[in-house]
Amino acid sequence: MRVAVIGGGAAGFFSALAVKDNHPDAEVFILEKSPKLLSKVKVSGGGRCNVTNGNTSIKDLVKAYPRGAKLLKKGFQVFKTNDTMQWFEDRGVSLVIQEDDCVFPVSQNSQTIIDCFLTESRRLGINIMTKAGVDKIVVVDNKLKLIFTKEPSIDNTFDKVIVATGGSPRRQGLDWLEDLGHQIVSPVPSLFTFNMPSESVRDLMGVVVENVLVTIPGTKLKADGPLLITHWGMSGPAILKLSAFGARVLSERNYQFEVLVNWVAEQNQELVSNVLKEITKDHPKKQIVNYRPFGLPVRLWHYLLHKCGLPLDKTWQDLGKKGLNRMVAILTNDQYQASGKTTFKEEFVTCGGVSLESIHPLTMESRVVKNLYFTGEVMDIDGITGGYNFQAAWTTGFIAGKLS
Ligand SMILES: Cc1cc2nc3c(=O)[nH]c(=O)nc-3n(C[C@H](O)[C@H](O)[C@H](O)COP(=O)(O)OP(=O)(O)OC[C@H]3O[C@@H](n4cnc5c(N)ncnc54)[C@H](O)[C@@H]3O)c2cc1C
Repeated sequence: MRVAVIGGGAAGFFSALAVKDNHPDAEVFILEKSPKLLSKVKVSGGGRCNVTNGNTSIKDLVKAYPRGAKLLKKGFQVFKTNDTMQWFEDRGVSLVIQEDDCVFPVSQNSQTIIDCFLTESRRLGINIMTKAGVDKIVVVDNKLKLIFTKEPSIDNTFDKVIVATGGSPRRQGLDWLEDLGHQIVSPVPSLFTFNMPSESVRDLMGVVVENVLVTIPGTKLKADGPLLITHWGMSGPAILKLSAFGARVLSERNYQFEVLVNWVAEQNQELVSNVLKEITKDHPKKQIVNYRPFGLPVRLWHYLLHKCGLPLDKTWQDLGKKGLNRMVAILTNDQYQASGKTTFKEEFVTCGGVSLESIHPLTMESRVVKNLYFTGEVMDIDGITGGYNFQAAWTTGFIAGKLS
């Protein structure tokens, strides 16, 4: 059996290795259009490669995927995060689970992952070709004929083909798969930070708040977690999560939208008000500037008091009902205008791709072309940060590699 894997990235390598595990006699080719293999793995996680996540609960894992959760729910029953860890450990790659559940190689170097894939491919006799871009797939009887950008010197007819070409930021990049009859979901970026050019909060760049709740009015979008104030606006896990779940809506709004920040991640205003009343009782003579509720960072607290027009030297006992209400409002419902986005350098992915309607979830085989399989980001699957995007590649690659 001759098998072609189109794309020499994470999903391509993992599926090619799985093919050899399942079908040792298969002749397997990885066909990569660029001169480089695994280039995203190299730069991933800031050069450290956040290879998966330490959480092993399928119920929790699927929550990390704005797109593809349903398909992955099935896939994780076959191969999930702990299987990934075992897979790498079995091949001599020691991993470490960070406190935030992100999993990295102990070497803290993505090259370790690349070396593992290359060594395994060599051991299993996988043929790797670079500068071998595939333009088109033609169905000939029961076989698949690949048309290359620049014809390489190999027989271009295969029994099975796995498409692992990654996310395509442009819709046209998916035309060749649409031509075969697959439905395409238009691609838009996911995992970006919010630009807020008109907001003075940017002066607080570098400030981190441990747990906020961010929402976008007029939508159901909400996310919690740490928030980082940057030179351009806002970033951090809460914002990235919001960008992922809101990828499509925010694109439709041309990245012009309002953001509400609940700095204390508590929606019950009465509870927040009670905490402030306690302070008034316990520290009546303290100036509001000198007693920060909810452990908010100093610079942020000063900024918020300023923003809601409360004099910093006011004492807690002089705050009054109006002052207290103002404080509650700014803590729980602070408004910002976002205008534009910035690519998050650590990780970005594409929302959209080959529609999951066109793919069989138990095999990853195309529903329209027999013997054609998909894996990785080329599909309409993407996750939030935390190793989830690679995990989607490993899971779908493991399943596609069965060629069932
Ligand atoms: C900067 C950055 C950092 C990231 N860090 C992390 C992280 O730490 N953890 C995590 O989980 N995710 C991370 N991601 C996301 C993760 O890298 C991707 O989700 C993952 O690489 C997808 O794997 P893939 O194999 O589907 O696609 P890719 O890795 O994009 O590989 C696709 C390959 O196919 C090739 N190709 C495309 N078209 C053709 C064609 N027609 N013919 C032949 N070859 C073709 C491409 O050149 C490419 O080499 C990061 C992404 C970026 C951009």
